[in-house]
Amino acid sequence: MITEDYKALDARYYMPANTRDMMLVRGRGSRVWDDKGNEYIDCVAGIAVCSTGHCHPAVVKAICDQAQELIHCSNLYYVPHQAELAERLVGITGFAKAFFSNSGAEANEGALKLARISTGKKKFIAFNHGFHGRTMGALSVTYKPAIREPFLPLEPACTFVDYGDLDGLMAAVDDQTAGVIVEPIQGEAGVLIPPDSFFEGIRECCDEHDALMIVDEVQTGMGRTGKWLGIEHTGVKPDIVTLAKGIASGFPMGALVARDGLEFKKGEHGSTFSGGPIACAAALATIDVIEAVLPDVPAKGEQFHKALAAYNPRSRGLMIGVTLGDRCAEVRDTCREHGVLINCAADGNLRLVPPLVITPEEIETATGVLRAAID
Ligand SMILES: *Cc1c(COP(=O)(O)O)cnc(C)c1O
Repeated sequence: MITEDYKALDARYYMPANTRDMMLVRGRGSRVWDDKGNEYIDCVAGIAVCSTGHCHPAVVKAICDQAQELIHCSNLYYVPHQAELAERLVGITGFAKAFFSNSGAEANEGALKLARISTGKKKFIAFNHGFHGRTMGALSVTYKPAIREPFLPLEPACTFVDYGDLDGLMAAVDDQTAGVIVEPIQGEAGVLIPPDSFFEGIRECCDEHDALMIVDEVQTGMGRTGKWLGIEHTGVKPDIVTLAKGIASGFPMGALVARDGLEFKKGEHGSTFSGGPIACAAALATIDVIEAVLPDVPAKGEQFHKALAAYNPRSRGLMIGVTLGDRCAEVRDTCREHGVLINCAADGNLRLVPPLVITPEEIETATGVLRAAID
């Protein structure tokens, strides 16, 4: 499929951890182009990363302007835009303080460390089919046996409970539990949405045992579900929230925000690149763009949901899942042939996480292609 020379170069020199057979070379808004010049409506968006669309002019300008001034300076010094971004994130999420990282997995590493150091306890609870990243700590709370078990034994010790099972949770949490980590909607599992009462129950259970409730909003956060945070739909207030994917429009960045009283003290955590000037500038510009489009996200999500109603979609805002079983890959490939990119998450679940700036016309075209492919 892709330029044969490039494919050969990759096969010869790049470790074969990924599965891929096409190359994207350009993007604008909700459209991307491959190396053959074919145009696609992008309902993958870097897997929920490019929420402002590809190469949004305001984000490009913020990155270029900062790159002309200072690319890196180390956290030995105050970093341009870092505190402004912390103020902005605290403002939109309602937490007390922020800390930055370079990815979603690293944001979760930070959350696990913060939970351990502030509770003095070591054990974690996570959920079956949950995904929190592939670094050692984040992997230890990630469910999928195929990606976790080759790396056992892992720290911290983690017990897995069925997603949505409060009785199971209550049986698993004890006074040694430092925290419970949960996604508001399971993304990699295929867009699984539990009832609000599940999150109320987790909150109560954590309070009872002095454990921290960590909500992984790496995929659901930054406006994806129609609110800044997915957990806002439930009214439950966690102790720590982690963010990444959509936060800086594709410039690598992650963050955690925590309630009052939970913070890293001197020397407890850090990273060379975390909260660097360009990442923070990109995130600030991204937040401005998302703020402007956020009011339209519920209606756009509704448009997807209605157009796909015949296939029992699960959706909140612009995070949409449809169970297709064995046919998922075939439907994905047919859509691609007709100019629409979609993604298969786990267990035959089609996942759509388009840019939040996608237009009603693009939604109409994309869902028309998808319906035809399924039928
Ligand atoms: C993608 C994802 C992660 C991992 O983020 P990386 O940036 O790939 O490390 C963690 N949690 C959730 C819910 C995710 O969707």
